[in-house]
Amino acid sequence: MPIVETESLVLRSYDLAEADRIVVFFTRDHGIVRGVAKGARRLKSKFGGSLELFSTVHLSYFQKEDRELVSVQKAEMMTSRFAQASRPQYLKTFSYLVELLVELLPPNDPNEKMYRMAAACLELSPDSGEEIAAIELYFEVWLLRLGGYLPSWASCGGCSRPLSENEPAALSPDLHLICEACTKGRHRDLVSPDQRSVLAAVGRLPPSEFVVFAAEHNPDVSELSAKMRQMAASIIGRVSRVKQVST
Ligand SMILES: [Zn+2]
Repeated sequence: MPIVETESLVLRSYDLAEADRIVVFFTRDHGIVRGVAKGARRLKSKFGGSLELFSTVHLSYFQKEDRELVSVQKAEMMTSRFAQASRPQYLKTFSYLVELLVELLPPNDPNEKMYRMAAACLELSPDSGEEIAAIELYFEVWLLRLGGYLPSWASCGGCSRPLSENEPAALSPDLHLICEACTKGRHRDLVSPDQRSVLAAVGRLPPSEFVVFAAEHNPDVSELSAKMRQMAASIIGRVSRVKQVST
C-alpha cells in the first residue's frame, strides 16, 4: 500500500466518533480526497492546527483500493489561513465556494489548474465586502469554466456567429450568449457590454489583479455572480445550502 504525498488545501472537516475527524482535501495531484485523521480531536494530536479550514498542507495518506476514505498519515502546515477564516464574510464566502467545488468536481479527479485557481483565491486577504464579492465571481466563473460547464461567450450560442464586444446580447438559461437575431420574440436575460468586459477580465487576469479591476465595476460583478450562482445551482440541482442559510 503506497503512501501518497501531495500539496493540499483543507476544504472541510467533520467530527467522527470520539477522537477522529473526516477531512475533505483538495489535493494538487489527485483532486478531491476524503480521509480520516485518527486522533485529530485529541489535545496532543500529531496534526496540531494543520487541519484548520483553508490551510495549505503537505499531505501524506494511504489509500486502500476498496475504501472511499483514505487514511491520513501526516498533514504538515505550509500556510495557515486562520486569520482570514476568522473573518465572517471570508468564512461564509469560501464555505459556499468550497461547497460548489466539492459538488461540481468528481472525487479523485486531478485538476491542477482548478487547484491553482482555488489556492490563488484563498491566498488573498480581501479588505472589503466588494473585494470578497470580486473573488467570489472569479472563483465561480473559473470553477464553471474549468469544470466544462461554462460555454464560450465569443460566439452566439444559436447561430455560432462570432459576437463583437459591443453588440447587444442575451443569456440563455444554460449561459450561452445569444445574438439579437436569435433572441427575437423571446424574453431573455440581457448581458451588457460592461458585464462582458468584466467576464473577459476574469479570463485574462490573475485574481489579485481582477480584484483591483472589479473595484470599478461593483454592480456588474454582483449581477454576473448571481447568474453564475444560478447556473451552479441548476447543475447541482438545488440551491446551495450555505447561501440558503445566509440569505
Ligand atoms: Zn445568433
